[in-house]
Amino acid sequence: MVLLGPLVEFIQNILIKLGLLNSKIDGIYGTETQKSVIDFQKQNKIIADGIVGQNTWNVLIPYINGGLGFIVPTNINYSYSILQININSLKSLYPFLEIISAGKSVLGNVIPVIKIGQGKKEVFYSAAIHANEWITTPLLMKFLADFCYCYVNNLPIFGVNAKNIYDLCTIYIMPMVNPDGVNLVTGEISPNSSIYSNTKLIADNYPNVPFPNGWKANIRGVDLNLQFPAGWEQARGIKFSQGFISPSPRDFVGFNPLTEPEVLSIYNFTLRHSFSLILAYHTQGKVIYWQFQNYNPPNSLDIGKQFERVSGYSLEGTPFNSSFAGYKDWFIKYYNKPGYTIEVGTGINPLPLSQFDEIYIDNLGILVLASIIS
Ligand SMILES: [Zn+2]
Repeated sequence: MVLLGPLVEFIQNILIKLGLLNSKIDGIYGTETQKSVIDFQKQNKIIADGIVGQNTWNVLIPYINGGLGFIVPTNINYSYSILQININSLKSLYPFLEIISAGKSVLGNVIPVIKIGQGKKEVFYSAAIHANEWITTPLLMKFLADFCYCYVNNLPIFGVNAKNIYDLCTIYIMPMVNPDGVNLVTGEISPNSSIYSNTKLIADNYPNVPFPNGWKANIRGVDLNLQFPAGWEQARGIKFSQGFISPSPRDFVGFNPLTEPEVLSIYNFTLRHSFSLILAYHTQGKVIYWQFQNYNPPNSLDIGKQFERVSGYSLEGTPFNSSFAGYKDWFIKYYNKPGYTIEVGTGINPLPLSQFDEIYIDNLGILVLASIIS
């Protein structure tokens, strides 16, 4: 089994915390990493071949499942494989979680939703619809892990009893809407693969967009947050005039609305439920967007102001050029209920992981309040 970037980082992170590896996390399975894997295998009395195969994974499980004091790593590139590992851990530790498949990506990756709670009211949090905004995935996953921990230990989370939230509300979390795009940006798709070269060909038409770090789209170059039936024609007009007229690393609206399987997954999942509120996570600017055109869902402004207060982010009107065809635009238009795009952090995407702790602290209040105030 050849380990690629993020999985190597994942192993290195564990080995470093176990004191078996004394180097930086670099995602490269070099001599040092191999040597510490051999030490780990010897300690655990399994065949010491320096290869991370099934036996090695098996003895790693206690550490993966929280033995090192955490489940969700927040210091490594968080790819789709890491998400799957974390979902498996959480499900085995917290069997009351329900894991649902919302559909599949272009490359056939299942798009998971995690359901927590048994209340009548349903809310929905999604992240990483934009590939290079994947830091929002560990944000939702760490929130989920912390919420589970507080629930089973009868503790408050952000000052609210987790059991009360669990009983009053059901939270649905779609932590990675765009798994293929995230894998491209995080290095889980090998630069030697044909998928990588195909996306590179698309990116070559846009030399001003860094590759792969500037990639926001799905793996075939459609911007998934410009695909929804809420002013799609306007979005097309704006983006075409900016030069995004065919598959691109970002800002291509597609040839029609709702053509991409990832978009259909979140769209159909939403239609099957009755969410009283949604949060759509993005990165850029510590801003909360709450409007679509002149829709004014009941309580939407008040809730937005409370989010502003607990996060320190600013509640703003959406800039005209990005005010059409997004998921939250469609949600507001179709349901006339509160929907928010939350833009975490500042700087160039993908945001550095050094911002993670601050992002988590800023958003914990929103994630808790959203379940109880809507
Ligand atoms: Zn975004």
